[in-house]
Amino acid sequence: MKRITIAKGDGIGPEIMDATLKIIKASGAQVEFDEIEVGEKVYLSGNTSGISSESWDIIRRNKVFLKAPITTPQGGGYKSLNVTTRKMLGLYANVRPCKSYYPYISTKHQNMDIVIIRENEEDLYAGIEHQQTDEVVQCLKLISRPGCEKIIRYAFEYAKQYNRKKVTCFTKDNIMKQTDGLFHQVFDEIGAEYPEIEKEHWIIDIGAAKMADTPEVFDVIVTLNLYGDVLSDIAAQIAGSVGLAGSSNIGEECSMFEAIHGSAPRRAGQNLANPSGLLNGAIMMLIHLGETKAAESIQNAWLKTIEDGVHTYDIYKEGISKEKVGTSEFADAIIARLGQKPSQLKEVRFENKSITLKPYQRKSPLKKELSGVDVFVHWRGTNPEEIGKQIAAIGSDKLKLSMISNRGIKVWPNGMQETFCTDHWRCRFKPSSEVLVSQKEIIEILNNALSNNVDVIKTENLYNFEGKPAYSLGQGQ
Ligand code: NAD
Repeated sequence: MKRITIAKGDGIGPEIMDATLKIIKASGAQVEFDEIEVGEKVYLSGNTSGISSESWDIIRRNKVFLKAPITTPQGGGYKSLNVTTRKMLGLYANVRPCKSYYPYISTKHQNMDIVIIRENEEDLYAGIEHQQTDEVVQCLKLISRPGCEKIIRYAFEYAKQYNRKKVTCFTKDNIMKQTDGLFHQVFDEIGAEYPEIEKEHWIIDIGAAKMADTPEVFDVIVTLNLYGDVLSDIAAQIAGSVGLAGSSNIGEECSMFEAIHGSAPRRAGQNLANPSGLLNGAIMMLIHLGETKAAESIQNAWLKTIEDGVHTYDIYKEGISKEKVGTSEFADAIIARLGQKPSQLKEVRFENKSITLKPYQRKSPLKKELSGVDVFVHWRGTNPEEIGKQIAAIGSDKLKLSMISNRGIKVWPNGMQETFCTDHWRCRFKPSSEVLVSQKEIIEILNNALSNNVDVIKTENLYNFEGKPAYSLGQGQ
């Protein structure tokens, strides 16, 4: 028997969890449950993290966690337990299958069958934000090579295991050449190890439009955290209902399985909610645990129930549906069909192996050379020529002002009068010839700034890695 941790959560959580557990038990899966309390009750008892340390111990001991949705109270400094759990447990891969069940569930996309594999730990979700000047706030987008390698390898391994033919990478690397550029580069590197799988890359904007319009041309999609978040909600919705899709969050040690939807508090306690999202998450969990026979039997019984027109209110449609049922009756209908197969929808078969990747191996260090510095300055004037003069004066013998940009666009030297400038200026110092720079020379610039009353907000060192400049140019430079 494998022990798994469960949490019934808030709103519709307890009802859909009870329905899901009843089905798992009836399927004969070899699992036992340890229940913990998370969410609203824990938050409101004064624990702003929404979970106790004893519950963490249970999650870490069992390693596999099935979680119903929870309500995050608004305001009051409460942290989203979902984001915390994913990051604390290193759950780097968020897997969201979005499939249509035409003609039994209404959708414009009859042949949609996409799996979105979303990076789950980094990107803008690191939540590192600062106000820097009166007018400008920033959020740091951090992308790491281990982060890219892990998620992209996972996507290819997933495609291999589930006999998927194509993996599509979505980025915006025409604009973010360093961050999204790294993701795309790693996609090309790792993709080369999977010659049997077709590979393609789309720029996220047109790719998202294509997915919303013609989802059947995509198979597995791998992308960065923020894009994946937006894309997967769109995909779940256009497949039929947000109430249907489950998701897994996979790490090297632990994993968490859930529905993609939230706690829908207005539907709570009325035996109305569709338990399919959590049930589909639980099926992913059973496959992960190697309980593939039980997973297969539940998924096929679920497909048969959908096909027989036994529907909860959210997917019920006159003319298609046969019977409108509540949460627990829907679960009973699935249990009654365990062992049966769908006759129109495609029956599923799962192979008896879970995806396990080797822990990430650190690479040998790269050759790194300091070649200049960007000094960010808070200045309330508007004329770039004026700040150019002031900032050129803080240069040293070796480091000279080479460029000033405002919100990324070069405004000095030779800026355009039409460019709107905020109070946040990036001043780039480079040596006049191709010599390398030491940290001391940066300190000299900062000392000069201090004596000249220049308000420095922060600095960013400019490096060459392996002899190549590894920083962006100013737009228009
Ligand atoms: P939601 O997903 O809870 O509900 C939106 C609407 O979708 C509901 O009003 C309902 O009409 C429908 N719906 C969702 N799930 C359904 C189901 N299983 N069956 C039938 N209909 C269903 O989104 P929300 O109202 O924005 O969020 C409510 C709370 O859930 C918030 O506190 C939010 O923070 C939280 N939330 C939690 C998670 C999670 O725990 N993973 C995820 C998203 C939102």
